[in-house]
Amino acid sequence: MRSLRAILRRTSAPRLREPAASNANQVTAGVASTAFRSPQSQSLRVHSFVGKLNGPWHKRALQAFMIIVTAHLAEHLVQAYQVYVLKWPMHQARGVLGQVFPWLIHSEVLHYGYALIMLVGIWTLLPGFVGRSRTWWLAALVIQFWHHIEHALLQGQAIAGRTLFGAPVPTSIVQLWIPRLELHLLYNSVVFVPMIVAMYYHLFPSAPEATGMRCSCALHVGPGTA
Ligand SMILES: [Zn+2]
Repeated sequence: MRSLRAILRRTSAPRLREPAASNANQVTAGVASTAFRSPQSQSLRVHSFVGKLNGPWHKRALQAFMIIVTAHLAEHLVQAYQVYVLKWPMHQARGVLGQVFPWLIHSEVLHYGYALIMLVGIWTLLPGFVGRSRTWWLAALVIQFWHHIEHALLQGQAIAGRTLFGAPVPTSIVQLWIPRLELHLLYNSVVFVPMIVAMYYHLFPSAPEATGMRCSCALHVGPGTA
């Protein structure tokens, strides 16, 4: 009987410790279990990579990611400017890169690819955020998840060669109420705003928040409470 209890204690002990694992561990476990049939060495490698991305590499990774996201949003703003201020016909309003590479605008797979990269980027960099910044970054993740679903619907129609709702071109759900140019400018802005608020709280955390951070992003630690 004593030995049985000892065995039970030994087998249950690691499980009891699991909830205390960091967010990075949880995300890593998710990545490992879905992306790989996790031999331990692979799981450890992913753990250290995602762990570094949310620790020592968080600052550089966020800088690179925010540059890409801002450049993409700027393209949507330029396109809106071309249509509403310069009065260019819609098919000629292709932002900046689209003027040189028109296929960028017309390739549904690129739009979908970008939405997916953005979703994965926000999700991968989430564990590095703590306190208020985490709440706002999470809000951006939820919104981007829906934005990505809309692009998946568009992409699905492009592949299937059939459109939803009897529309002449691939059409997403909210596009039934808001035209595509305005809708995707709106989506990108609505994701961008909580990201900026999250970045603000991440760069200027309160003292309690700063103690939970494993990265070097903080520019100034405030005295306030979280
Ligand atoms: Zn950071």
